[in-house]
Amino acid sequence: MAERLAQHKHCPTCGLAMGPKREACGDACAATLAEKLRKRRLLMFVWISASVIMIAAAIVAMK
Ligand SMILES: [Zn+2]
Repeated sequence: MAERLAQHKHCPTCGLAMGPKREACGDACAATLAEKLRKRRLLMFVWISASVIMIAAAIVAMK
């Protein structure tokens, strides 16, 4: 029992204890986690796109 308790981690979405090899405690939390990652990736994409556009605009403005 003590060994079982030692080998666990907490769900990143709701904080419940779960198995060490799981990414989320259940389907609902897995979906929430996937959505969070998707939004983060989208935000990163927007950021990079904006940076590229700004740099391109700066280069054009210098000419
Ligand atoms: Zn959870």
